[in-house]
Amino acid sequence: MAASLHHPSIHDYRQSVPSWWAASAGSPVSAPRLEGEARVDVAIIGGGVTGLNAGLAIRDAGLSALVLDAAPIGWGASGRNGGFCCLGSSKLSWPAIIARFGLAEAQGFFRLQVAAIAHVRQRLTDFAIDADAGPDGEAIIAHHPRAVADLAAEAELYARAFDTKCQLLPQSEMKPRGLFTAEARGALLVPHGFPLHPLKYVQGLARAAAAAGVALHGESPVVSWTREGRRHRLTTPTGSVLADRVAVATAGFTREDLHPGLAGRLLPVLSNIIVTRPLSAGERAEQHFDTLTMCADTRHLLHYFRLLPDGRMMFGARGGISAAPAAEDAMKARLERDLGRMFPAFAGAKTQYFWRGLTDLTFDLLPHFGTLDDDSAHFLLGFHGNGVAMGSLGGTLLGRRVAGLAVDLPVAMSRPLRRFPLPFLRQTYIRAAYAGFNLRDAVGR
Ligand SMILES: Cc1cc2nc3c(=O)[nH]c(=O)nc-3n(C[C@H](O)[C@H](O)[C@H](O)COP(=O)(O)OP(=O)(O)OC[C@H]3O[C@@H](n4cnc5c(N)ncnc54)[C@H](O)[C@@H]3O)c2cc1C
Repeated sequence: MAASLHHPSIHDYRQSVPSWWAASAGSPVSAPRLEGEARVDVAIIGGGVTGLNAGLAIRDAGLSALVLDAAPIGWGASGRNGGFCCLGSSKLSWPAIIARFGLAEAQGFFRLQVAAIAHVRQRLTDFAIDADAGPDGEAIIAHHPRAVADLAAEAELYARAFDTKCQLLPQSEMKPRGLFTAEARGALLVPHGFPLHPLKYVQGLARAAAAAGVALHGESPVVSWTREGRRHRLTTPTGSVLADRVAVATAGFTREDLHPGLAGRLLPVLSNIIVTRPLSAGERAEQHFDTLTMCADTRHLLHYFRLLPDGRMMFGARGGISAAPAAEDAMKARLERDLGRMFPAFAGAKTQYFWRGLTDLTFDLLPHFGTLDDDSAHFLLGFHGNGVAMGSLGGTLLGRRVAGLAVDLPVAMSRPLRRFPLPFLRQTYIRAAYAGFNLRDAVGR
């Protein structure tokens, strides 16, 4: 099996990410290449929010921790996402989760998602990270008349099952609330979550982890993972580390050959973002879209968008099959077309930044904690495009688990991580799924 389902350029760790976040985050965190031999209690593979939170938890437990990232720290999805710190991490609907695991388990999983958002807030406070955090809440905007009833059903479920009061906005309220898009038919205002600058957040975490004694090594891809007795040896091109235990936090950038126990178990998919020049107050007023609230629409292949503090529009979309550079122009044009259709007053605003990244799907559409080998290696994988909050609290739980502490996990996140049937067909599955989603999105079903 190839080391990646995608074009190698998406794993080119020397390529910097051409994002607005990289242009505005300030100086990167220092994380020298691993040179020579190191010895540590726990080695963490992956220097994003999951790995860094794990590192902090491992230090709190009194063990030594070392993070290896193939690229500079934060280069993965953590430093290039939309900055939605929000509910999520699974791609299953709540009714499906309740049907599969029962109401009490679903409630536990929901509470964990809410706690994950609070955990990020706490990290920002505890480590004095200024990540341009925005207002509380998320607006889910009905893109089709049929989606309005779905939002009403969701509001009812949130109130009944999860003690969460959402507000339903009729279409007539969208303009006065500055939440208008040309296709908006109404919205659901969810009280949980807030937007942030993802790279400032992950860099702040990295500085905090370094201050707590976590050894950070960027540009250090793990190219071989072997056992030496009960220990693990992780080898990079310039060094190696001998660790008693290992935590895997590589999310959508996990390569097929990292560990046989992970091969064929993740489906990495693309998510794509454009950022415009700052929009004037006049343009925002003309569009009746003038809020820092983070927004997503009701499509299966959803758009996620928000105004940034300096008036730029960040507009993202899941989708696209090919990560090859040759496919980039078409994806950028698609985003610009969708932005222009939904926000006619912003159609002329030039795109100044465009980038893409990988996020990770699992076969059962749930995030997974799991173990490898003799339980001395642990992982948390499968965020389904929503890992800012869950990767942060989940990373902390991952760190505690690998440190040997007892951790209570929802059953929904603790089932064995199944291999995809005929894993070499994963790109075909996603092609078929996207074709179905596009049809359903067109008719609001
Ligand atoms: C474009 C985009 C937009 C998104 N928007 C949102 C959003 O708004 N809200 C949200 O909640 N989620 C969003 N997500 C998803 C979210 O960013 C991820 O779920 C989350 O960042 C995962 O964090 P992580 O630390 O587990 O993994 P990552 O941040 O992806 O880090 C994994 C790291 O592992 C490293 N790595 C891989 N293989 C190796 C190896 N062999 N050796 C060493 N290192 C290795 C990689 O270099 C990478 O830096 C988005 C994702 C993308 C791509």
